[in-house]
Parts: sequence; C-alpha cells; structure tokens
Amino acid sequence: MATMNYKCPNCDGPLTFNPDKQLFTCDYCLGEFSPAQVQQINAAKEQRETGDEREVKRAEEEKQKAKAQGVEDSDEYPVSYSCPSCGAEVVTTSTTAATTCFYCQNPVVLGARLSGEFNPDRVVPFALSKEKAIERFLAMCGKKWFLPKGFAGKQQFEKLNGVYFPYWFADEQKTARITATGKRRRVWRSGNKEYTETQVFNVVRGGNVQIRNVFERALKNESRDMLQSVHPFDMSKAQPFAMSYLSGFQAEKRDLDKKDVEPVIEQKMRQYTEQALKDTMEGYDEIDTNSFEEHTDLSAYTYNLLPVWMVTYQYNGEILPFAINGQTGKAYGKLPVAAGKLALASAIVAALVFAIGLLGGMLFL
Ligand SMILES: [Zn+2]
Ligand SMILES: [Zn+2]
Repeated sequence: MATMNYKCPNCDGPLTFNPDKQLFTCDYCLGEFSPAQVQQINAAKEQRETGDEREVKRAEEEKQKAKAQGVEDSDEYPVSYSCPSCGAEVVTTSTTAATTCFYCQNPVVLGARLSGEFNPDRVVPFALSKEKAIERFLAMCGKKWFLPKGFAGKQQFEKLNGVYFPYWFADEQKTARITATGKRRRVWRSGNKEYTETQVFNVVRGGNVQIRNVFERALKNESRDMLQSVHPFDMSKAQPFAMSYLSGFQAEKRDLDKKDVEPVIEQKMRQYTEQALKDTMEGYDEIDTNSFEEHTDLSAYTYNLLPVWMVTYQYNGEILPFAINGQTGKAYGKLPVAAGKLALASAIVAALVFAIGLLGGMLFL
C-alpha cells in the first residue's frame, strides 16, 4: 500500500495539521507552514503515490484474497502497508485512509485509498485541538454528579483520536408546484351557543427552490447514533480536499457509492422542497396537500471528510463511546453511571414526588 508522510522542510520531523493555528506545525523545530505551502512541496510525491496503477491492482488482489478467506460481502478487510518512517509492517482495515504508525507513532497517510473515484471533493479541517476537545469533555463530566469517582480524569482521554469521517453532501435546485387546501377557523359564542365558521381556500404555490447541504454517511459501519448527534458542521468552512490535511489524524475511506445514498437523499430533498413551499402558506389553521410535483434542474453531489474527536472507554465491562464535533465542539457521549449513585438519585426523585404529593394534598384540603 502506498503511503505518504509529511515531513518538515527544515528538519525532516513529522508535520501535522494544527487546528488552533490552522497551519501545519513541526513539533521538533516549531516550524509553521500554510496548507498551500505544504500542498505545493508535496504535490509531486502525492501524484506519484496516488497515481500508482500497481497499488490499485494490489488493493484489488487483497480484496479478492479476503473474499477467498471468507470475508464475504464486506469491504472491511485487513490490509498491510509498510510505515515510511520506521519500515514496520502495519495492518489496518481496508477503509482506513490515514492513521498513526503503531510502532513509531508517526503520521501515515495511505494515498492510494483516496485516489480516483475515492478522492474527496472537500474537507472540513479540524478547528478544535485535542486539548480543547479534552476540556470540553471534562466540562461535560463536571456537571454530572452521577459519574463514578475518578472517572473524569485526564488520562481517560489521552486516547482521544481525531478521525475524518466520509459523508456525501448534495445541493439541488428544483422547480416545484404544490396545491393544497387551507382552512381558517373562527369560533365565537352567543348566548349559550358556540359557533364555528370555517373558510376553505385553494392554495397554489410554485417556483424554484434551492436546497443545500443534505447529507448521508458514506461509511456502512459508522456508529450512526453517535455521529448523527455531533452534526451539524459549518460547510462554509470546507476546503478543497488536500491529502496533507489528514497528516496526524485518522481518516476513513468511504465504502458507500453515490448510488447507495441517492434514494435517501432524494427523498429528503423532496420532503424539504414540499416543506419550503408550505412554509410560504401563512395564516391557515390547517393545510392539506392535494398535489405536489417537483423536477430537479441542478444536482451536485460531493464527497466530504468531516472531523470528529473520538474515544471509547470501558467501564464495568461496558464499552462506552464518546464523540466531539472537531469543528464546533458539540459533544455526544454515553457516560457511565455509578450504581450506588443512581439508586440514590431514584430515592431523591421518589422523595420529591412524595413531597409534591403531600403539598398537593394540603392545597386541596
Ligand atoms: Zn521541523
Ligand atoms: Zn513507523
């Protein structure tokens, strides 16, 4: 497997992307380089690594081999590569596109995984450093009194990984038309009678609708709930993809094609279009759609990598995941609950309910 590692032009140390500075930094000589500089310096090397036909062939062979060994119907199979820094043979899953060498801890980007049709269109670079991600996590734990003692220690999060996850995004322009029945009601009393007047309207709306940033995951085995919960991302900050952004992070290669996500995205697009037209119908108490037609005039799908800080930890034999949006800091996590503390919580809630019951009883005596 072809690999890339990004080296400092001054001292040859490993170069990684620094989210705080939005620059590439070298930990050894403290040199700083802009994304454009790094891209320029490495352009020729990236071209060599990703354009290598033999690599594509070898990847295909590994896939066949995995299938022969009974890894049926799966795009996840182990693949080995040799680390460009220390030469160690490292095994990853087939969807890993960037990682850290298990032996020498140097960043490695698996160039061939992102070539051709797998070349992402855009990347949202990490904007939240690992230190800030840990702070967010500790702040979240700080408010949770039910955590087991000693849980929210800093060492829990040394294993926090920055991972780029693949997503399909779509923008579309549609011509649409909707007809609906709108109802307006007026209720009044006169004497001991109640009157209701219902006015019924035929409502028609039509026009061009633009819908942007409808997305679907591009990885089958993504832990869906967790990652859904850290959205949204600010896509206005997305950059044209460059492989160097991945240096120092992990990255997953997509294993879902546009055709796999298209039906779901198109269905969402249709819903949003109908809703956009309905939102212009103001002043009705009730709106029922009679007909809805739409036609897609422009459609653009892009393949994007989005940044997430991830950690999974074990507590009492349970595996708990935690994720933080690498751009906005929005966090999602399953926190462990100390058994004794939870029992206490239930007792307090029960006592409160009892107290409220008493209070209510007193009030209505
Ligand atoms: Zn350096
Ligand atoms: Zn190594």
